[in-house]
Amino acid sequence: MEEITFRDEFYLPEGKIYMDGNSLGLMSVRAEKVVKEIMESWKKYGIDGWTEGEDPWFTLSERLGNRMAPLVGAFPEEVTVTGSTTSNLHQLTATFYRPERGRTKILADALAFPTDIYALQSQLSLKGYDESHLVLAESTDGHTIDEDTIIQAMTGDISLVILPSVLYRSGQVLDMEKLTAAAHERGITIGFDLSHSIGALPHRLSEWGVDFAFWCNYKYVNAGPGSVGGLYINREHFSETPGLTGWFGSDKNSQFDMEHTYVKAADSGAYQLGTPHVLSAAPLLGSLEMFEEAGMEALRGRSLKLTGYLMEQIDSRLSSWDFVIANPREESRRGGHVYLEHPEAARITKALKAEGVIPDFRNPNGIRLAPTALYNTFEDCFQTVTKLKEIMEKEKYKAFKNERDIIA
Ligand SMILES: *Cc1c(COP(=O)(O)O)cnc(C)c1O
Repeated sequence: MEEITFRDEFYLPEGKIYMDGNSLGLMSVRAEKVVKEIMESWKKYGIDGWTEGEDPWFTLSERLGNRMAPLVGAFPEEVTVTGSTTSNLHQLTATFYRPERGRTKILADALAFPTDIYALQSQLSLKGYDESHLVLAESTDGHTIDEDTIIQAMTGDISLVILPSVLYRSGQVLDMEKLTAAAHERGITIGFDLSHSIGALPHRLSEWGVDFAFWCNYKYVNAGPGSVGGLYINREHFSETPGLTGWFGSDKNSQFDMEHTYVKAADSGAYQLGTPHVLSAAPLLGSLEMFEEAGMEALRGRSLKLTGYLMEQIDSRLSSWDFVIANPREESRRGGHVYLEHPEAARITKALKAEGVIPDFRNPNGIRLAPTALYNTFEDCFQTVTKLKEIMEKEKYKAFKNERDIIA
């Protein structure tokens, strides 16, 4: 396979090895350039920037959605760039959670990212149901969840299933195709949180028949802190009315009629609320070019080689210490990062940072290392393990407290 790396196009923190692209992707020259262009169009056109300039803001969310569609394997009109992971989950649950007699529960998983659980709890409460209506599929090893366990939990009282594509801690990839088929056989609607897979692995949402999905764009997609997220609505559902409505979800031709009768957009654009966050969407215009040029399959190929090499290095050079690789090892079941556990993980992470390697720590004992396909190298993986070995050999971690910082 041809070596694909866009490393030269990124601002790499000087003298550091950045292994945290699964939390916040780095800034690229192209993302920066487009932000400046959007600022220019504001400067130059004022209000007319909505319709003038190279990237008129009025249709920005839709155009960005069309360009993101290949990353999730969807038809262009099924994807819109809007909101955040959490706000989109609220929107989609408000739309697709329709409790009926005897079918009132939501199924999620016990290892879910906290914001997903908070959103589901509040959506249940808004519809008058208590927390017993949130069913969580359990993990037996604390890291992964067996798809069959999830399927067994899809009982007759479940109305909606919401799962991650990739578990944020262990990096396990869930078999979305199998889970979707199982949910549909049982008459259940199913949606996925793609925060940890978008930009890291290919998806075929339309082909799999996934009902809806949502994600953030500041992790592997490199669109910057707090950048606008995305959502996918299977076109079979285009006739539905969104649970939460706002004027930017209107049909574009009639939005400025300013009537009080809501005429919704005919596609996924209907799920927008208010005025798009143009400045926070701008970096995507630049960042997506690189995904288009590299292709998602090739990026996944390189990512697997990088994580494979990193695991090999950990196995062969860190075996004298209590490290455990807690992500699934099979290619089809591991995402874009390696999840390393150690009882002293909090202070090993601090020692790594002091040595110029930037990983992230996940309470209570996990270190996530994400060599991203666009800008990390095999040398980064090698050096990370070299630093880890040094930290253990010389007990450098003992200079730090084994506690997490506020943002870990
Ligand atoms: C990163 C992440 C989020 C973050 O939600 P925001 O609304 O973007 O802050 C939510 N869910 C998962 C699974 C994540 O990985």
